[in-house]
Amino acid sequence: MQPLKNELPSADNVLFVFYNFETTQDTKISETAKLHVPILVCLQEFCTACEMRDDYEQDCECCGKGRHSFFEDPVGDLLSYLCEPRPWYKKVEATAHNAKAFDAQFILNRAIFLKLT
Ligand SMILES: [Zn+2]
Repeated sequence: MQPLKNELPSADNVLFVFYNFETTQDTKISETAKLHVPILVCLQEFCTACEMRDDYEQDCECCGKGRHSFFEDPVGDLLSYLCEPRPWYKKVEATAHNAKAFDAQFILNRAIFLKLT
């Protein structure tokens, strides 16, 4: 165990991704419950190089265009996107709009299905 340091963690070489799923509730799973089925995921991302840009409408030299959406297989496409090799970054930190009650469930279900470790 390391002692706590009185310094902020470095954000260098980190790609921050923020995502949000939209779902339908057309699938009934019981008399009183409906299944949330993801139909769209939108994400925004930024890195330390983004902070230096004057115009956020321009692509970042490191992370690219900064906004993406996936709708054919929102969960699988998001996971594939997050796992793409990125020479600029040591890690990707993904934050869900509503992970506590909603968005993380789709990722967890897919990770279990794929037996990801
Ligand atoms: Zn960037």
